[in-house]
Amino acid sequence: MKNFANAFLLKNKSFSKKSFSKKIFLSVFVLFLLTASFLLVSCGASQDDTSNLTNERGKVQESSLNEAPSDSADSSADAEKKKDLQIEDAVPEGFVKAYVSEVIDGDTIVIALNGREEKVRLIGVDTPESTIRHEPYGKEASNYTKSKLLGRTIYLEKDVSERDKYGRLLRYVWLEVPQNNSESEIRNKMFNAILLLGGYAQTATFPPDVKYTDYFVKFQREAQKNRKGFWGNAVLQNSSMRETSYIGNMRSKKFHRPDCIWAKKISPSNRVNFKSRNEALSSGYVPCKVCRP
Ligand SMILES: [Zn+2]
Repeated sequence: MKNFANAFLLKNKSFSKKSFSKKIFLSVFVLFLLTASFLLVSCGASQDDTSNLTNERGKVQESSLNEAPSDSADSSADAEKKKDLQIEDAVPEGFVKAYVSEVIDGDTIVIALNGREEKVRLIGVDTPESTIRHEPYGKEASNYTKSKLLGRTIYLEKDVSERDKYGRLLRYVWLEVPQNNSESEIRNKMFNAILLLGGYAQTATFPPDVKYTDYFVKFQREAQKNRKGFWGNAVLQNSSMRETSYIGNMRSKKFHRPDCIWAKKISPSNRVNFKSRNEALSSGYVPCKVCRP
């Protein structure tokens, strides 16, 4: 190349002295080289161009890809925010958020719902009376419910029945919405269960509202064993409240005295408690022929 450039310079300097054919040859050669190098460059350029184009397109695609996710990332971030808000505000299906405006007794409350007041009877539990009749431990149960529920937001869960014969809503009362309905959540977040575990209520099973009956029976046994609440009171152990209870079998539709051998054989899931003989009869149960309740 250097030689050639020298030759070229030489050629220019010795313009008139060199032979014509030599000049022609050199010019052609130079032209050829120039053309070749131009072609090479333009080829390279065009190659670069195409690769640039692809790159551009790639970039375009990439950026459109990047933009798309960044767009959706933004919108998903928004969605995330919205979701968070929804988690805070919205209540999962099957639950109704309500405010406890009054506590009537241990197992009955008044809630404010959609601008109306409704009486709610807690499903599956029975606290001693504290209103018309005064049963032992009734006041304690009522005060306990007041201390835990009055003026607070709760979440109501329905089982099968909407209302009882007195027109009260039949509901499970949750202090927080459960995430998975595990036993520990039921123990800690459902007030019906909390009453049983604390010995403030005994089980009162009325089919068809039996979703948590097995747990309730278990929790009551635990409270009895640990002598919680009224189970710790020796006088109450023999109180009329327990003596007059009857046990029904949901499958056979028969009811028994609590000490009947057949009553003891009823599985927890088929077990129903009745406060009185009349309650059992009016629920369509027939008296056992062995214990003759
Ligand atoms: Zn019996």
